[in-house]
Amino acid sequence: SKECGRGTFSYFDEKMNAKAAERLILHGGLRQALGRDELSLVYQPQVNLRTGRVFGAEALLRWTPRDGEPVSPSRFIPVAEESGLILPIGEYVIHEAFRQARRWCDAGLPIQVSINVSGIQIYRSDLVATLAAVQRDTGVAPDLIELELTESTLMEDVNAAREVLDALKRAGYGLAIDDFGTGYSSLAYLKRFPLNKLKIDRSFVTDVCSNAEDRAIARAVIQIARSLNHRVIAEGVETVEQAALLRRHGCNEAQGYLFGRPMAADELAGLLDAPATA
Ligand code: C2E
Ligand code: CA
Ligand code: CA
Ligand code: CA
Repeated sequence: SKECGRGTFSYFDEKMNAKAAERLILHGGLRQALGRDELSLVYQPQVNLRTGRVFGAEALLRWTPRDGEPVSPSRFIPVAEESGLILPIGEYVIHEAFRQARRWCDAGLPIQVSINVSGIQIYRSDLVATLAAVQRDTGVAPDLIELELTESTLMEDVNAAREVLDALKRAGYGLAIDDFGTGYSSLAYLKRFPLNKLKIDRSFVTDVCSNAEDRAIARAVIQIARSLNHRVIAEGVETVEQAALLRRHGCNEAQGYLFGRPMAADELAGLLDAPATA
């Protein structure tokens, strides 16, 4: 009925308003977050599935407003991207991740650090120059740094992305495709990017033991990586069974709660003395 239709409309309308209001509030808070020292990085271990050793860590951003609860990056990163705040925030992440790589190196723990890079940083900033300046300041060997980019980011403007990636590759950084399998990348383009690694998205890992389709996708990603001569890492590995299955199918590396949650840098250093599980 008409009334029902109107009701539905205003329901969506209100939901949209609520969403817009939330974004405004997040945006307001996020604008001050850097100056107020509310942002920090945590690190999640990455493990070699053959040796069981931790070789690297993904830097993950955390925001805890001074007078509030922590806000999840899946909520605030999109707001930061829409508003352009991802540029200063992304620079903070790069600085901090390099400084941490340097501290670990100085402590005799050469851990590779993976940094998430947003498309805005690729297309609307001089990422190559930013990294060069931070690299010079910190003296971190570029091969200790890996940059994670999503496939949808790269497909936005294949030619521009390729130019940036070629420069990053020449500078010596590792390049990984994040959340692989969830975007729409064309394999024809993919092979032209100078990549080192594909990262199997958690959505295919969660049920990899019980769901034949997810398993087929995970295996396909591993095959693609192998035929392109890239390494492959699985994210979201939570059980020994998942790790064993992925390893059996040729996956090189894994990351997930099984090996460790995202944690403070000092805590991660403590993990390195003991071999990881699985
Ligand atoms: P992502 O890059 O796919 O990161 C992996 C996410 O999965 C992280 O969520 C991590 O905590 C979570 N995770 C890791 N292992 C497991 C597991 O075994 N089980 C489950 N259920 N979850 C697991 P987080 O930290 O909330 O980050 C969410 C997203 O926010 C990231 O997804 C990334 O897209 C974005 N993000 C985080 N930090 C940054 C950053 O510094 N820059 C940019 N541009 N994006 C970031
Ligand atoms: Ca990532
Ligand atoms: Ca990911
Ligand atoms: Ca993911």
